[in-house]
Parts: sequence; C-alpha cells; structure tokens
Amino acid sequence: MSEPLPSGSTIGILGGGQLGRMLSVAASRLGYRCHIFEPGAAPAGDVAAKVTNSPYDDSAALEAFARSVDVVTFEFENVPAEALDRLEAIRPLRPNRKALAVSQDRLVEKDFLTGLGLETAPYANVESLADLEAAVETLGCPSILKTRRLGYDGKGQVRLTAPEEAASGFEAMKGAAAVLEGFVEFSSEISVIAARGADGQVACFDPGENLHEGGILRRTTVPAPIPARLRTDAVLLAGRILNALDYVGVLGVELFVTPRGLIVNEIAPRVHNSGHWTQNGCAVDQFEQHIRAIAGWPLGDGSRQADVVMENLIGEDMERVPELAADPAVALHLYGKAETRAGRKMGHANRIAAMGG
Ligand code: AMP
Repeated sequence: MSEPLPSGSTIGILGGGQLGRMLSVAASRLGYRCHIFEPGAAPAGDVAAKVTNSPYDDSAALEAFARSVDVVTFEFENVPAEALDRLEAIRPLRPNRKALAVSQDRLVEKDFLTGLGLETAPYANVESLADLEAAVETLGCPSILKTRRLGYDGKGQVRLTAPEEAASGFEAMKGAAAVLEGFVEFSSEISVIAARGADGQVACFDPGENLHEGGILRRTTVPAPIPARLRTDAVLLAGRILNALDYVGVLGVELFVTPRGLIVNEIAPRVHNSGHWTQNGCAVDQFEQHIRAIAGWPLGDGSRQADVVMENLIGEDMERVPELAADPAVALHLYGKAETRAGRKMGHANRIAAMGG
C-alpha cells in the first residue's frame, strides 16, 4: 500500500474492547469502516460497521473476516500465531508479526531491547526450580517472577522477598515458562506513545507519568515532571525501537525513571491506556494516529496543546460520573460496558488545563 487507503475502506480490528472501540471511532472520523473480530463481549461492536463474534480457532470465520477488510490491525498482543498466519495470508497485518512476537514473550522482548543497547531490569530465564534458585542467587531479593507470556495489569507475577520463597514462587507459575527480574528502584514510571508511518516517518507524544494501584494504571499526568533531558531520551529510544521493528502503527513504551537514567519495562504494540490523554491534549490523538499509520496517511506531529491528567474509572469509580460530567475541565470517555465489576476499566476522565498552568 503506497497510496492511502481510499475513503470507505474497511479496517479489521482483532479485539473488541475499549481500545478497539476508540480505534473504531477514530477510523470513522477519517472516513473508514471497521469490522471487529472478538471471541467475547465487544464494547467496540456498538460503534463498528460489523462484528464477528467467533473464537480465534474458527478458521472459516477468520478467513471470511480477512476477506471483508482491507488491512488488519489489533488492540491486544495475545492473538494466537495460527490465527495470524491465516489472516496474513489474505490481508496485510499492521503492525507486523515481529512486533507481536517480541512483545508476546517477556524473554524475547528483553533480549530484543538489550540487543538494541537499551537497558532493562536485570533478568534470567526460568524453566526449572534450579534455574530460579540460581537466578535468585544472581539477581538477589526482592525480585519479581513473571510468566513469559499472557501477563497484563500485574497478573502472572509473584514478588520474591527472600530466597526461601523460590519454591512457592515457582509453583505459582503453574508450569508456565517465566523470567526472574531484578527489582528496579525507580523514582517514577513514565511512558511514551510513539508512532511510525508506512513511509518510516516517526512521531512521539510527550511522555506521561503513570501511577499504578494494584497493578492497574490509575492516572497519567502530562507533562511528566522529569528533566527535559530524560524526555528527549525517552522519545529517542522509542524511535529506535520503532525502526528496529520496521513498525507501522502506534506503540506504547513503559519506562522506569532511575537515578542512572531510563530503564525499559515493557513495550505494547498497540494504542495504550497511558495514551488516552491525547484525546483531549492533541489535535491528532493516539487512536487517529494509529489509523493514519496503518492506512498510509501522513502522521500527526504529536504536539501537546494542553496539560492533562487522565484518570481511569475502575469499577465503582463510575459512581463519580455525574460529578465529573458537571466539571467543565473534564472530558469523559465511557466504554459502554453493561456490567460494572471491581477492577474493571469502565471509562476514563481527561482533566484539561492550560499548558504550564
Ligand atoms: P508489568 O506487568 O511488568 O508492567 O508490571 C506491573 C508493575 O509492577 C509495573 O508497572 C511496576 O510498577 C512494577 N514492576 C514490574 N517489574 C518491576 C521491576 N523489575 N522492578 C520494580 N517494579 C516492577
């Protein structure tokens, strides 16, 4: 695709959660339709032209989906490899398989990042209790044992506070391949939402500072209160990752700020919760940026027009909606999920202020 996708083309999105929903809204603003493929509940379906509600092992449904769209993208990184093989045989996949393969596996991801000369937490592959005991010896305690695959929002992780906890920690992995990470003494966590176009153009949004509670993102603040030098470092390292992956689309890079500089925690090959502030802080937000990239458009430049605090509305936070709706500085984004559950992301609120105010 050297020309932009023509108006009225259809974008296929794997995953129908809130990220798919906001991608679909952005795509419709640019004149496209979306077809969502989602095995479970699909809040994105409310705002899409079509939804296929089938499991990822339904090859007939996957192939029909691929034929009905012009390009395939995704809102989460754990799509099974066989499903991707089937889709890719029919339509282009953006971002590409390499980006998915790297971010689906914490060990592959860390090998990739350190191979680029970027710093990560010290880590070791853990396939047996003996591996874990040796790794604890080298990396010390506290340390964090994480499953290599399928972890999110702090799930699939155990903190080891003493070497004696190795056996119970290993058991908690339930036989899944894991990595042990040395504990990073960070002063804050930040993320960069970066984009690369089909022509190799790169644009990054300003880094935001992220506050997590119980493993879930609570709040993102832009600008992140860090020195300009670190902001530049963050943006430059994101650009290196994008180029090394020959990436097309939006990528989230989560970083620890330490006295020695920035350490990469993880990358997400998709739009990212910590980039939701861009919806009310930039002319072109992360969702439109992703659609622009995969549809072959020029990228927005990522400049920030306001200071923003993005707060996730999780579970019973929804009770605060009337109060937030009455606040003139707040833009509400609700996901239309039928059932409010503890720990479930139901929406977010962007509080806007004049820059530097
Ligand atoms: P993750 O799912 O790997 O992003 O981890 C969730 C959260 O756990 C991170 O946002 C950090 O707050 C914390 N965390 C993860 N890995 C480490 C580490 N190696 N050292 C210190 N804190 C960590």
